[in-house]
Amino acid sequence: MRKLIEQLKDIELAIFDLDGVIYRGDKLISNSDKVITALKELRIKVVYNSNNSTITRNMYVQRLKGFNIESKILDFYTSASITASEITKIKQNATIYVIGEMGLKEELKRCGHEVVNAESNHREVDFVIVGLDRALTYAKLAFAQKCILEGNAKFYATNADTSLPVATGLLPGAGVMVNAVETCTGQKPVKIFGKPNPEGIQSIIEDTNSNPSISVIFGDRLNTDILAGNRAGINTALVLTGVTKASDIEKLEGEKDRSLEVEVGMIPNIVINSLKDIFLS
Ligand SMILES: [Mg+2]
Repeated sequence: MRKLIEQLKDIELAIFDLDGVIYRGDKLISNSDKVITALKELRIKVVYNSNNSTITRNMYVQRLKGFNIESKILDFYTSASITASEITKIKQNATIYVIGEMGLKEELKRCGHEVVNAESNHREVDFVIVGLDRALTYAKLAFAQKCILEGNAKFYATNADTSLPVATGLLPGAGVMVNAVETCTGQKPVKIFGKPNPEGIQSIIEDTNSNPSISVIFGDRLNTDILAGNRAGINTALVLTGVTKASDIEKLEGEKDRSLEVEVGMIPNIVINSLKDIFLS
C-alpha cells in the first residue's frame, strides 16, 4: 500500500476541485485517476467540490467514469447544487431566471423551483441567479436587468471565477457574467454561493461526519479553493496543474505583511506540482 507524505499522513477526508486538478477540459491530468484509487484503498473519503455550474452531478459521474474514476452523485458538491440547496432555504418553489447552463437549471428544478425564460413576466421573478453561461446574449442580460431593476428579483451568483482552465489554455469564467449583471444593475450579488464562500466545504464536513483538522482540499486556485478551505478551517493543498504558478505563491508571500486578505486565507498549507506528489515515491 502506498504511503502519503508526512503533511497528509493523518488525512481522512480529501476534497478535490475538478478543473485544473483532476482534469483540464477533456484531458485527464496525469495519474489523477490512480491517486483517487490509492486514496480509496487507504479508506480516505473522497468528494468533489467544483465551482463549475454548467453540468449536473449526474453528468459529473459520467465525466469521471470516462476518465476511469468511479463516483456517485452524492460525491459531488458543485456551485450549482450548493446554490440550489441554499436558495431553497431562502424560499421554496421560487420563480427563477437563470443566466447559466443546464447544470444550474436542472439542480434548481430538482429542488422544486420554476426556471423561467426571458419572455416571462419579469414581475413574477423572485431570483436572478448567475453562473457560467457560454451562450450569454444581450437579451439575457436585458431580462436579468429588468427583473432586478423593474421587478422584485434578488440577485445571486454561483461563483465569480475570472477564468476557466481548458485543455488549450484559459476561457472566460462565470465572474464575467456576474460582472455584466453588476454593471447594468448597479448591484452586487446578495450572495455568491460557490468558493471562496466556505459553506460548501462546511456542508461536506457535516455530511461526511468529518473533522476539519484531518480534512484537506486540493485546488488550483488561491482566491477560491484555498481561501474557502482556510475559511472552513481545513487543510489546504495547492496543485500547480491549473491556473496558479509557483511564482504566484512567491508574490503572495511577499505581499503577506501588507494585505489582510492574504494573511487570512490565500496561503496554502502545502504546494505540490501534481496530485501524484502526495505519495512517497
Ligand atoms: Mg479549478
